[in-house]
Amino acid sequence: MSKHLSRFVPLCVPALAAFTLALSANVLPATAQTAPADAASRMERHLEALQRIADENGGNRAAGTPGYRASVDYAVKVLERAGYEVTRQPFEVTSFELVKKPVVAQVRPEARRLREERDYLVFDYSGSGSVQGAIVPARGIRVPPPADGVGLASGCSPDDFPPETKGAIALVQRGTCFFSDKIDNARRAGAKAVLIFNLGTAGNKEAIPVIAAEGNAVPAVFLSYEAGRDLFRSAEARRTVVKVDIRARTQRKTTWNVIADSRKGDPDRTLVVGGHLDSVLEGPGINDNGSGTALVLVAAQRLAERWEKPRNRVRFALWGAEELGLFGSTHYVTTLPNRERKQIFAYLNFDMVGSPNFVRFVDTTRGNAASEALGDRFRAAFERDGLASGHTDSDGRTDTFAFIEAGIPAAGLFSGAEGDKTKSQQRRYGGSAGEPYDACYHQACDTIRNISGRALREFSAAALTVIRETARKRPPTAEAVAAAMTASPAPEPVYRGPYALR
Ligand SMILES: [Zn+2]
Repeated sequence: MSKHLSRFVPLCVPALAAFTLALSANVLPATAQTAPADAASRMERHLEALQRIADENGGNRAAGTPGYRASVDYAVKVLERAGYEVTRQPFEVTSFELVKKPVVAQVRPEARRLREERDYLVFDYSGSGSVQGAIVPARGIRVPPPADGVGLASGCSPDDFPPETKGAIALVQRGTCFFSDKIDNARRAGAKAVLIFNLGTAGNKEAIPVIAAEGNAVPAVFLSYEAGRDLFRSAEARRTVVKVDIRARTQRKTTWNVIADSRKGDPDRTLVVGGHLDSVLEGPGINDNGSGTALVLVAAQRLAERWEKPRNRVRFALWGAEELGLFGSTHYVTTLPNRERKQIFAYLNFDMVGSPNFVRFVDTTRGNAASEALGDRFRAAFERDGLASGHTDSDGRTDTFAFIEAGIPAAGLFSGAEGDKTKSQQRRYGGSAGEPYDACYHQACDTIRNISGRALREFSAAALTVIRETARKRPPTAEAVAAAMTASPAPEPVYRGPYALR
């Protein structure tokens, strides 16, 4: 486990009790005795149920809300009806919210208010407070930046902050080290607030969602490249004063993972199949991640109904608080007793499998042979259906990362989020070039209408094939898994859930 991750580990609760029991043919519901409906239409019914849950609970299913609690109840009910004994694993998270509209404004030489979202976003876990002071740029800022962004490391060393930083507002450029390290160095130098602006290289110009270290007390704001560049130029020319007013609140909340084991299969060789159950606060989260949730539920139903006895045990898991920063999966792997962790030979993750303008991304950790081997299974399954697939790197944006970091091989499927489809992707997958994979990503419009039925069909076919094969085939030994993971370079997170870490 990296030093970095340990800073974010949520409060521990006792590890899960041993899982027991589950399915037997005579407890299956009547519908399961007949031929099951095809996977995609079954997924649609789960998505309709999750949409209803959001509609009845203020429009979302976010961690810590009644909509999430109802989503847990729904998943538990589906799994129990399929014959599983289900565990709700509680854990605590620290949620962060702004209680008042923030103000970031230049006061001198001329007054100018920056626009939230367009010019800046407040860091998750920003400190609270109203401060005003002169901008003092850290050393190492490059405006304009080198095209490849290489060597940008302003604020990564305590020496980057000149003595005038004390009592002032530090201005830093993104690059190389974690935001939390830059903020910490600025705080130690006496800064009252920290503004970090984007690199300015291609694809790195906007204000994006970012996260500081939990417990950080300094007001911290992330600026678009343009907004940061303008402040930098102004501060280089004359005294430039900025006001930052952030009113934020953090709260400890209890939330849950939902976990169910197949009764059959060797518990010493366990395959975990999962995805996150929570949505963001902004919307119902039907593609993100109702779609992955529905896929996990259908896989569990299928296994209970008609797959032959799996050689390996299969554990189905729905994670809580992914959208707050991978809390559920991180809690799960970091509190697993060593013996249970060694039982798990692979984790398969499904986070967004119904994007309207989709790409068939296979999510693996580059340089990790065990992760790539799982990815190859997904690629082969698509190929057998005559479908192309692409690669996305497991860099902390979803729950695969927590497993990789805990030494467990992991890979997943992903149909695309806020990024724009390229021309070559359009040729490969169809859809519209220059448009986001999911234009409703993390918004109120991520509803039942924000789902591609074709994506559900293609992704569920490949996923169910791989889950079934991986449950059936002889798995690697614990020693082989450990050797493969030790031989791989430590993963380097860029994100923690939806938030950039650096
Ligand atoms: Zn997601």
